[in-house]
Formats: sequence, C-alpha cells, structure tokens
Amino acid sequence: MQDSRKREIRIKADSFREKCKISRYGIIDLFKECERSGYKLLRYPLGENADLGFTVKKDNDIVIFTNSCSRLSREIFTLAHEIGHVILHLEDMTSFIDDNVTINGRSTDEKEQEANYFAACLLMPSDDVDRFIDLEIQNFHEKGLSAMDIARIMSEFNVSFDMVLNRLESLDVIDSNQKLCLDNEKIEKKVGNLLRSVGGNARLNVPSNEIDIPYEYIDYAIYNYNHNAVPKETLERVLACYQLSIEDVSDKIVEYSDDDDDDLDNLIGGLDD
Ligand SMILES: [Zn+2]
Repeated sequence: MQDSRKREIRIKADSFREKCKISRYGIIDLFKECERSGYKLLRYPLGENADLGFTVKKDNDIVIFTNSCSRLSREIFTLAHEIGHVILHLEDMTSFIDDNVTINGRSTDEKEQEANYFAACLLMPSDDVDRFIDLEIQNFHEKGLSAMDIARIMSEFNVSFDMVLNRLESLDVIDSNQKLCLDNEKIEKKVGNLLRSVGGNARLNVPSNEIDIPYEYIDYAIYNYNHNAVPKETLERVLACYQLSIEDVSDKIVEYSDDDDDDLDNLIGGLDD
C-alpha cells in the first residue's frame, strides 16, 4: 500500500474515531458506535466455521453483520474491518464477505488489506498506543513489555492479544523476536489467565454468542428457516428476542424442498424479503 493511501486511510479512521466514545485510550463500545453512525448491525452466532462478517449496501441502508461465535475481541476487529469497507469501498462495491483469510491479513486483495489497516488505525491509533505505553507501563525502557502488559493493552483497546502484537510490531514498538517471545508466553500462560491477573476484561477472550437483530430482520430469520439454513431452535431464539413464538409467524413459514440455500448469497438475498 502506498504511503499516500495509508495516510488517507488514517485520516478517515481518525475522523470516524473522533465521533466515538473513548475511555482513556480505547473505543468503549464499537457496536454502539456502529449503530449510532446509522448502520444496521446484525450480530448472530452463525457457527465457528462460518464466515466472520459481511457488509452489504441495500438501497439507502448499510447492513453490517458479525458472527458472534468468534471471540469478542475478534468480533470487534471484524466489525472495525467492515466499517473500513463501508467508509473506504462502498462507493463502487455493493458487498463484502469476510472469512479467516481476509480478516487475518492473508488475502492479497488490496481492499482487504486496506480494511485491515483501517481497523488497526481505528482501534489502536499510534498516538494512543504510545501514550498508553508511556503512562501506563512501568519501566518500559528498561524491561520492555511482558505478556501481562499485552493483556493490559488488550483490555484497554478491546482487541485480541494477537492484534496487539501485530500492531506493536508494525508500529516498531517491538521487533519480530520480542513478538515471538510474547507469543510463547501467551501460549504458556493463556490469555484468559493473563487478563484475569491484570484485572482486565476476560469477556474479550470468549464468544459473546450475542443475538442482535433489528426488528425488521425477523423476516430474514424466517427466510433462512424456510430455506433450511437455520434450525427451528434458532428461529425460536430470534423470535424470543421480540417475545414472539413460531405460532405468531406461522403464516410466513413455508416448506421448501431445495437444500442448496444455505450459502451466504442467499443469506444476504434474504435481507431483501
Ligand atoms: Zn473484508
């Protein structure tokens, strides 16, 4: 990515961040910020092997979906990545679907790399990372960072352990050797334990399995049920969020026999219903 494009992305991430509620360093609740920006947010535990997120432009609406089966810190990163697509790319594209490859930076697609760079700048801007390390980490210059320090940074910025390491490496705060040592320390001590030992937010390290579906998307759940894309219990759970039961929507339940409808194109298509 060219330096001038990177700067452009930093400017856009910074102006989105300016509107967000920030604690001392990190964004408090990116899900709320997403809704406050007028995007329609869907969160659903779609399964561990399913896609991580998607963004669709539909008429005047922008719909962002995140899979709440991934660990909360990863789900937040996916959301930041999707916001990146909305702000950087939705002018000339109408949808993006993201999986492990695009979110983990292994895709060579320029737009995917840009969305990841946007997410890094939005969640962990260089200034705030420097300020955190300067003010909150004792003896950084003598001792460097420990895995507990990484857990502190993680908790403040609401990101994953791996994201902190990647970001610190790209900001030249740590080198690849230090990154490897910290990664080993993580494997040995486990992120959940590290978070607890620094009084951090242990919820970041587990899936929220949150179901957050705007009322108008009840139809979307019914569509997926009708096309055998979700089991009956799933539809029941969605309806229960609105104090409804299957009987209440029985006029909309249809039995289809085709079974090739569980791919994401159809899930997105379902939003049109
Ligand atoms: Zn993407």
